[in-house]
Amino acid sequence: MNKKLIVFATGNLHKLKEVNMMLESTPYIAKAMSDFDIDEDIVEDGSTMHENAKIKSDFLFEKLKVSAMGEDSGLEIKALNMSPGIYTARYAGKQRNDFDNMNKVLQELEGVKDRTAQFRSVISLNINNETYFFEGIVEGRIGAEIKGDGGFGYDPIFIPTGYDQSFAELGSEMKNQFSHRAKAVSKMVDFLKSID
Ligand code: IMP
Repeated sequence: MNKKLIVFATGNLHKLKEVNMMLESTPYIAKAMSDFDIDEDIVEDGSTMHENAKIKSDFLFEKLKVSAMGEDSGLEIKALNMSPGIYTARYAGKQRNDFDNMNKVLQELEGVKDRTAQFRSVISLNINNETYFFEGIVEGRIGAEIKGDGGFGYDPIFIPTGYDQSFAELGSEMKNQFSHRAKAVSKMVDFLKSID
């Protein structure tokens, strides 16, 4: 099948890989912006995930004038008033280190009983300079410790509702069936099929 191309405004190859696993059975395929020789760090200075996702898809559309997708995601923890939210990537500082970030969350939740949390993903799709948003949430809780070596980011401390293992332990095939990103991508695919 000749796949239709969506250019993805991300430098995160884990996200790209996940999205392409989700797109496997669809007529679409995502390509990294680096495949088009764009490697710039896009300044995400919006105040919501929707704004940040749109900044990314607009940036790419302006550069390439093709259908472009941006995605912004984050972890929202109930006991921390839904933080870190848009600050998820740099929660423990500018170094954006996954282990520093996870350790900061675990420290903040020390002694906290209600560890309810969710991941949110917001996709912005720019087609002919019109923007369409798709959102997905997966609910769960923050585990007591870092567990598992699959996935990326906060996966080793996030345990989805209905499971005892973290996303990093469950593995990408399982995670990609019901993650926040899987839900947002599935909505985007339904939309793309509807306008085809
Ligand atoms: P973004 O790339 O600006 O959207 O930042 C997202 C932040 O949330 C990064 O710290 C990611 O590691 C984290 N994050 C997003 N999605 C996931 C996921 O599926 N699992 C674990 N961490 C994630």
